[in-house]
Amino acid sequence: MQTLTDPELINHTTLAWKPLPNEGVVLNGARLHLVFWDKKSWNPPVKPDITPSTIKDALGKIVEYVSDALKEYNINPITPDEQESYTGDWQGDLKIKDIVQAIEGLVKSPGPELPNATDGNRLYVVIMPPGIRPSDPKLAGVNGEHDSGGNPKVHYAWVTWSKFDDLTASLSHELIEACTNPEPPHGWTFAKEEICDVCHYAGQYKGIQVAAYAKPDGSVHVPPRAKLSAAAGDCA
Ligand SMILES: [Zn+2]
Repeated sequence: MQTLTDPELINHTTLAWKPLPNEGVVLNGARLHLVFWDKKSWNPPVKPDITPSTIKDALGKIVEYVSDALKEYNINPITPDEQESYTGDWQGDLKIKDIVQAIEGLVKSPGPELPNATDGNRLYVVIMPPGIRPSDPKLAGVNGEHDSGGNPKVHYAWVTWSKFDDLTASLSHELIEACTNPEPPHGWTFAKEEICDVCHYAGQYKGIQVAAYAKPDGSVHVPPRAKLSAAAGDCA
């Protein structure tokens, strides 16, 4: 994987590659459904100042930023669902297949807050409480990931975090990639690397931390008023 170093990003913001849409699989006009992992961890909240409401407040800005990125690829913006879902209490070793199974469960028994849950255009985004993360060894050090799986097929992402900046940066990263490449590797990539992975940077947008992304012409969008941080790009 090629990533840009700091001086390269500042002095040379055009990548060596042009992106390929591959088979052109994208999530156009996706509906975003937040899933808070482990209900017990969120109620009462993990920290007094970090609640589902705090995250949903930041989500408006994140969705705005992500929609600008999607526009570059002629992809219609995402719209968050009004309601969120929670998984049951969780104990023990957490694997990615557990996340997929939990989302499949939501799809099969959606409940009144989540009508039409089988809509293939819905993107499920799982928010982990601080400190909880999948244990799969290949995900060591990874703050988030997106993919598709299950039967019926669901498009999903998950993010883990320790600081709020990590969460918003990871969330913006995964939302951008989950819409441009929802079924890897059949969407937009630069030489197989996804459009945020090639940048590996985050900056500020309206007071929150968001991920840089590459545009179809190979240039890199560095977030406005960027305070570059190499830490926030560690998502898959
Ligand atoms: Zn990524």
